Amino acid sequence: MKKPAVRVNGNQYRWPDKPLVVVCVDGSEPAYIPEAVRAGVAPFLGRLQASGTALEADCVIPSFTNPNNLSIVTGVPPSVHGICGNYFFDREAGAEVMMNEPKYLRCGTLLAAFADAGAKVVVVTAKDKLRNLLGHRLKGTCFSAEKADAATVELVGMPVPSVYSAELSEFVFAAGVKLMERDRPDLMYLSTTDYVQHKAAPGTPAANAFYAMMDKYLARLDALGCTIALTADHGMNAKHRADGTPDVIYLQDVLDGWLGAGKARVILPITDPYVVHHGALGSFATVYLRENVEARIAALPGIEAVLTREEAAKRFELPPERIGDLVVVSTRHVVIGTSKAKHDLSGLTEPLRSHGGISEQKVPLLFNRKLKSLPGSRRLRNFDIFDLALNFAEEKVAA
Ligand SMILES: [Zn+2]
Repeated sequence: MKKPAVRVNGNQYRWPDKPLVVVCVDGSEPAYIPEAVRAGVAPFLGRLQASGTALEADCVIPSFTNPNNLSIVTGVPPSVHGICGNYFFDREAGAEVMMNEPKYLRCGTLLAAFADAGAKVVVVTAKDKLRNLLGHRLKGTCFSAEKADAATVELVGMPVPSVYSAELSEFVFAAGVKLMERDRPDLMYLSTTDYVQHKAAPGTPAANAFYAMMDKYLARLDALGCTIALTADHGMNAKHRADGTPDVIYLQDVLDGWLGAGKARVILPITDPYVVHHGALGSFATVYLRENVEARIAALPGIEAVLTREEAAKRFELPPERIGDLVVVSTRHVVIGTSKAKHDLSGLTEPLRSHGGISEQKVPLLFNRKLKSLPGSRRLRNFDIFDLALNFAEEKVAA
């Protein structure tokens, strides 16, 4: 008997007709997959492109990990779920704090709603920073590869990898396949880490090796009869000069120079405990200040957009009380820092690749099934993925 649809956050989702695996490949800008397919190392992804459904979608801005993962599992933008970065200035507390606690989440996830309706739900993330948010009020299985327990390690048959490794993501896929074989959950959400994407451009040997690894696990999930839906939290671009040094606008230093120290506060929502990837440098900043320097900031070389709080909240669907007076976005190959002295770039062993801006908004949206035709006017978002997989997949599995 078919179970009734599940309603959550104003959206309605049909009960899965086969196990649904939604994969969020961290930092997977659209070129990675076609490059790996072209290199002949990702035959399953090639089949998805040819006989499944291969689309592109827009992610949430700021193009960072947490806002996008939360949009994917809630089906709504940050203006509704509240998570608009890893880090923000809490006006009530008067302090700069991490935003990775469930107390900052303003709505439930569709994963928890399905579990409440009786679905068996499994969530596996690479980094532990996402686990609390993704698993909020979830009656199901939810763990990170980073902090996998002994029983999980035994099930997966792999030691717990370093948090800075491609293997951390492999652990996620390996765990997903084992859990699908053992428990056959109705819904599974797998979220990787962008360690490889921060270092290796599409088509490079390290990138192709990562997608070849992923391809094998996805093919196994497909063979197990799952619906597979794949997207990314954000894209990724080179953010360095010709000599390999990061191309940075140290915005706090610039504003201190113009206004005097202590007049402006630059917040980088990319800031998190895992700075080795990117030295806390991304293409999105928010600024708290009273002075009117919007036009001056906009005139700096490498700045793509400067928006007031109201403009940014409207255009990017952000909670206005959690962003500064201005939102500043840099261009494709430029990042924004606070003060030069505050960034530890010693962990950057390769020329910087990062994200956060409008230039990293395009992400892939792939399915191993054909979708019913969508209204041509519909702007596809990465957080439509559960809607598309559950409400629009054709009966017949294509790939
Ligand atoms: Zn990410």
